[in-house]
Amino acid sequence: MTTILETKQLTKKFDDNLVLKGIDSKIEQGQVIVVIGPSGSGKSTYLRCLNLLEQPTSGEVVFEDQSINQLTEAQLDGIREKMGMVFQSFNLFANYSVLDNINLAPINVQGMTKADATKQSQDLLQQVGVADKADAQPASLSGGQQQRVAIARALAMHPDVMLFDEPTSALDPEMVGEVLNVIKDLAQTGMTMIIVTHEMGFAKNVADEVWFMDDGQIIEKGTPTEVFDHPQKARTQDFLSKVL
Ligand code: ADP
Ligand code: MG
Repeated sequence: MTTILETKQLTKKFDDNLVLKGIDSKIEQGQVIVVIGPSGSGKSTYLRCLNLLEQPTSGEVVFEDQSINQLTEAQLDGIREKMGMVFQSFNLFANYSVLDNINLAPINVQGMTKADATKQSQDLLQQVGVADKADAQPASLSGGQQQRVAIARALAMHPDVMLFDEPTSALDPEMVGEVLNVIKDLAQTGMTMIIVTHEMGFAKNVADEVWFMDDGQIIEKGTPTEVFDHPQKARTQDFLSKVL
């Protein structure tokens, strides 16, 4: 197995609030990790530390064998291209068409020609099931469609790993499934993914490993069967009894 991302004794403090309390974690190439846990436990902060959107207070983040938490912003730009991130709020550029949202980084950052980028964007829109929306403005799309475009936009940079932070939490219930299906399809292509979600059925379905995070620590890890059906820690049991 090839380790693609690793944290060593990762801590993050906001003022006096120690939000991540020394996290050792490892993500192997092609693995799908689902992170669950109560609100405020540090899940988003952990994801944001992985691509240095947050600067860790101490410890190390290693991406593809390179320690990245001492890099300059310019160096980090190159690293972040390889880590696609999808947020709860879709964050599409409101003034650009769907197609241009996806074209933007490949053209401006990777130097693709407009014709090549457009071809790629159309393929990606096809992949996420919104090929007919290329010329639409984001605001005219449903939340589920917008989130699928956001996933396509992240994929356009050919990331080595995808980070999802509660990608369906802002969606109306009837749109959750269509976004989860896109993520599930992506898992089947072998994409390495770390997904924070409260969708436990989905987690059972796609996760190679489930991590339960509580109070700034990953306190339990295992296969979906291990964590959901035979949780070892009282806090995991308590959390699951409330959400399942
Ligand atoms: P989760 O995603 O599990 O809900 P977060 O990582 O968002 O948890 O937050 C964990 C803790 O860190 C919370 O107490 C939150 O208030 C705090 N926190 C997160 N981001 C910031 C920030 N930028 N400044 C100060 N405190 C923050
Ligand atoms: Mg969060």
